[in-house]
Amino acid sequence: MKKTTLIKEGKAKRLYNTDEANVVWVEYMDQATALNGKRKDQIAGKGVLNNQIDCILFELLAAKGIHTDFIKKLSDNEQLNQKVDIIPLEVVVRNAASGSFQRKFDVPYLQEFDQPVVEFFYKSDELDDPFINTNQAVALKIFDFEESQQLEKLALQINRILKERFAKAGLQLVDFKVEFGKTADGEIVLADEISPDSCRLVDLMTKASLDKDVFRKKTGDLITVYQEVLNRLNNSQEEAHV
Ligand code: UDP
Repeated sequence: MKKTTLIKEGKAKRLYNTDEANVVWVEYMDQATALNGKRKDQIAGKGVLNNQIDCILFELLAAKGIHTDFIKKLSDNEQLNQKVDIIPLEVVVRNAASGSFQRKFDVPYLQEFDQPVVEFFYKSDELDDPFINTNQAVALKIFDFEESQQLEKLALQINRILKERFAKAGLQLVDFKVEFGKTADGEIVLADEISPDSCRLVDLMTKASLDKDVFRKKTGDLITVYQEVLNRLNNSQEEAHV
């Protein structure tokens, strides 16, 4: 398989066409952004770490029966995905209060929820990804009610799998964002990436942040904490095989 024309350069990845119509070549870049792209830094090694973490998590989710766009890992910072039409929503699942939820409702950091919370945000850089409810998204023809329930159910299944996997690695999954896409034959599949760029992870014991919050809040070194997440995933995986 060969990569051909560039489809799009996003905040953290480049997407290329390939010589196969329904396959895209994804290259993870060494770029970190905050404040919806207003702050940008080059951080050597970030692309490799996110690609490796993403491959581990997408392979796990696929093994647990979640349909995804992931095909295979190509190199340390590249992978092949199925071509999908991205549904323009950021689907956020929260197990405890942080980030925009904590700010919006003025509740204590990491206050735990009895049930996970699912939220939708409309993907629009111009509008700063506003919160959108189901009725609003149906009005905008982003999905219909049946699809909205399907997305919520999938998001909660993904949460259960990831929460358990991260807990094995000594990490609490506070919240995360996923995106879904439609394949050429109309199937909804998990797409985009899952990495410490899109998840909030804290050490189960110390509650220290091991995700992009260290970059957003300038409280630590991004590479050190992303490497720690990868090491913990690899080490806990080895234990599970013994
Ligand atoms: N998130 C993301 N991309 C975005 C916005 C949020 O991946 O453009 C992730 C973020 O890393 C966190 C979760 O979604 O794990 C919830 O983010 P929140 O709504 O709390 O927003 P933030 O704190 O980033 O303003």
